[in-house]
Amino acid sequence: MTSYLIRGVRVLGREQTDLLLRDGVVAESGRGLDAGAAQVIEADGLVALPGLVDLHTHLREPGREDAETVQTGSRAAALGGYTAVCAMANTSPVADTAGVVEQVWRLGREAGLVDVQPIGAVTVGLAGERLAELGAMAASAAAVRIFSDDGHCVADPRLMRRALEYVKAFDGIIAQHAEEPRLTEGAQMHEGEVSTRLGLTGWPAVAEEAIIARDVLLAEHVGGRVHVCHLSTAGSVDIVRQAKARGVRVTAEVTPHHLLLTDELAASYDPVFKVNPPLRTAADVAALRAALAEGIIDIVATDHAPHAVEDKECEWAYARPGMVGLETALSVVLSTAALHVDGRPDWDLIAERMSRVPARIAGLDAHGHDPAPGAPANLTLVDPAARRTVDPAELASRSRNTPYAGTELPGRIVATFLHGHATVLDGKATK
Ligand SMILES: [Zn+2]
Repeated sequence: MTSYLIRGVRVLGREQTDLLLRDGVVAESGRGLDAGAAQVIEADGLVALPGLVDLHTHLREPGREDAETVQTGSRAAALGGYTAVCAMANTSPVADTAGVVEQVWRLGREAGLVDVQPIGAVTVGLAGERLAELGAMAASAAAVRIFSDDGHCVADPRLMRRALEYVKAFDGIIAQHAEEPRLTEGAQMHEGEVSTRLGLTGWPAVAEEAIIARDVLLAEHVGGRVHVCHLSTAGSVDIVRQAKARGVRVTAEVTPHHLLLTDELAASYDPVFKVNPPLRTAADVAALRAALAEGIIDIVATDHAPHAVEDKECEWAYARPGMVGLETALSVVLSTAALHVDGRPDWDLIAERMSRVPARIAGLDAHGHDPAPGAPANLTLVDPAARRTVDPAELASRSRNTPYAGTELPGRIVATFLHGHATVLDGKATK
């Protein structure tokens, strides 16, 4: 196994040091380490972070390999600085059995670019009618701990209650796509001034907030763990804040796009801006940024949602919702300055929201550790001074539906290491 000497890197933005990666761990740190047989990486000006962890990735395999595969999605993740991703269950077939989650888990191991942790479906076929084989998925080789019908809401309160109760046996989590379906029928974008102006059917904030309010009450009632996927409104922040203050076992994520983009973009009728939940108002964006910094929103998660051209480059009304996000996530977060202090990135806080806490929620013990002697060598090197203009043609994802085409964003991932193996070097995937 190749060993690496990373020379002069600033771990979490602190003073420069060297890191020696050997046998899958950070073997030594300190200035002037002897390279020996190790490959030297000059890291002057670079910041080392624990490898990023994404709790919400759509890898599309099995079923929509034309949009993404476990391998292409893993490569996109590594290029984004990720060392672990949780793969959502809305594949075809749906990941609602031990067989399918084990297939995704195995494909992730074969790709070997990030640790792929499958998420299991809550209900059979995501149909919202009866519970899937949660216990069998938990007991499988994939050791599933998070369950989600993402793309669909577990709308039936009795089913949601039973799911929360069931997964308590193995400290599992139900990750809810919070959308009261009766309130979003035919919805095309956020319900507000812009939707009125454009004459498009609105997706009201209350459709999200009503489900989150219900679910935190259910979680409190049964003592279960609920995770809120892609929280998108200021009102949702208030509900989570109150629930946490009462001691409810609730965690929440926000996507990079909801931290940056607003519903005004729908006026372009460019379906690349169509996403679920929809882009909200500038006031929501401000509330989300503040809540992320404060920790009411625990983590950033990408909701990386690749779509084939025919599903996305069509009329707004027919376009599938979703954006790719793995390769731009850190840059977008940096661009919002949501996790800045005194005008500079707070690397410790970025590590917290994008690596340590998501690793803890997902129970990924090998991830979310600061690069220090003895820690698993899962880390990424960022050049914070670099800027790059996003070119969809250059993305490693099989899909091109990025809302940032032509946008200049700060920061660049220079290298990523998974269990001591380089998955990205010089900004390029190694396989
Ligand atoms: Zn969703």
